[in-house]
Amino acid sequence: MVGLIGRQWIGTRPAIVLLRCTIQLNQAQFRLECCGPQGELPAEAAFHAVQRAGMHAGVPSNARPLMQLTANFTLDELTRTTTGLPNVPNRSERAALLALAEHVLQPLRDALGQPVRVTSGFRSTAVNRAVGGVPSSQHRSGQAADIHVSGMSAMALARRIVALGLPFDQLIEEFGQWVHVSYGPLQRRQQLIAVRREGRTRYLQGVM
Ligand SMILES: [Zn+2]
Repeated sequence: MVGLIGRQWIGTRPAIVLLRCTIQLNQAQFRLECCGPQGELPAEAAFHAVQRAGMHAGVPSNARPLMQLTANFTLDELTRTTTGLPNVPNRSERAALLALAEHVLQPLRDALGQPVRVTSGFRSTAVNRAVGGVPSSQHRSGQAADIHVSGMSAMALARRIVALGLPFDQLIEEFGQWVHVSYGPLQRRQQLIAVRREGRTRYLQGVM
């Protein structure tokens, strides 16, 4: 348990308060819980408090937060990258990841009753460039994830997402290998199949 100085809303105003935080450090990840005079802090605020105070709490500067977004999805798995490049979402990008997990990924996981593996979620500008993503990719803003479910074809997974009536913005069955799904304010309900033809990616309408 460490004491950190942080901010918590008291009534209608933010106040500087003493937070009592537990931080479990596990290699390069940490799990945190912070409590102030008004009770437990939302994950977002706790993340900020510990990020600011990281050096005082003995958290290495390269540690990544293992922040639980929903019952089965963490911020860590939605920001993982094999590029070795920095991939830290800002406040609005984290909010978009949380909304994606809350409205699409977790309801899907609950309906399937088995793990939904995220192969790519948020991408910083550097990561997006490195993996050849278009600058307007919804991965950039934290609105999209590429997912895979063991024992299920990408097409079966895409069709299941549509059949469940999940409020996705865009759903793409990509190359028969994974499903790209996004959640955002546009709510286009767009369904596409990505195929490679003559070395180029083409998009066909509809997955049903
Ligand atoms: Zn994608």
